[in-house]
Amino acid sequence: LASRDFHPEDTVVKLDGVTIGNGSLVMMAGPCAVESEDQLMDIACNVRRLGARMLRGGAFKPRTSPYSFQGMGEEGLKLLKKAKEVTGMPVVSEAMDQANFDMVAEYVDLIQIGARNMQNFALLKQAGKSGKPILLKRGMSATVEEFLMSAEYVLAQGNPNVVLCERGIRTFETYTRNTLDLSAVPVIKELSHLPVVVDPSHGTGKWTLVEPMSKAAVAVGADGLIVEVHNQPEEAVSDGAQSLKYDNFQRLMDTVQKIYAVR
Ligand code: PEP
Ligand code: MN
Repeated sequence: LASRDFHPEDTVVKLDGVTIGNGSLVMMAGPCAVESEDQLMDIACNVRRLGARMLRGGAFKPRTSPYSFQGMGEEGLKLLKKAKEVTGMPVVSEAMDQANFDMVAEYVDLIQIGARNMQNFALLKQAGKSGKPILLKRGMSATVEEFLMSAEYVLAQGNPNVVLCERGIRTFETYTRNTLDLSAVPVIKELSHLPVVVDPSHGTGKWTLVEPMSKAAVAVGADGLIVEVHNQPEEAVSDGAQSLKYDNFQRLMDTVQKIYAVR
């Protein structure tokens, strides 16, 4: 079902007011984690002003350490919904397990299944049964074929609304947090009809690399980008080092739109 052989035309995923994969570059931006109402509203209004079409923000966070901030939970989802009402941007947020999937689905437009859950087959089946638009992130040690097989789990339940996200893979390189595998974008475009977005924030781990890799991602055919932006990256509870300030996000928006226009 994910294969282009049996479905030659590109899939377009429709959310509340935004379509992904229909020939416009969809910019998704926002904090790694929802931290407070003030933080989220400030970031949402500013990324909107700078041209973002969707708001990202984690309410349930998959943290390496159990002692790190785990996210605001339902409170965070309520704030995302409020930010949508204020800015008009549909929102994307992660569902981390089967127990919270339906709750996340009630509040958000695009449900993220994170890299660590790419092969959580029970969660993928539940995502498929929900019929809700799903943002499926590539596992950090998944091949493209395994990635597409995970999408297949969602599609096989009758849910065609899957957006794929390249977010970097583990390699021997340690300077960057992950190695952003941009060749995966044209590879997936050959093999599959599903829309593909790129996450240069988790893909590099360093804010200085986010703009150059965003430019490259758009040049190789990404349908959108998902970028972490924060009002005070140095104070962020998670992923501050890879989060852009507003002025840098503005510059990124200008350059990627120019590249998109001539691609
Ligand atoms: C995220 O988007 O905040 C996130 C945790 O992403 P990933 O699953 O790609 O690590
Ligand atoms: Mn993050």
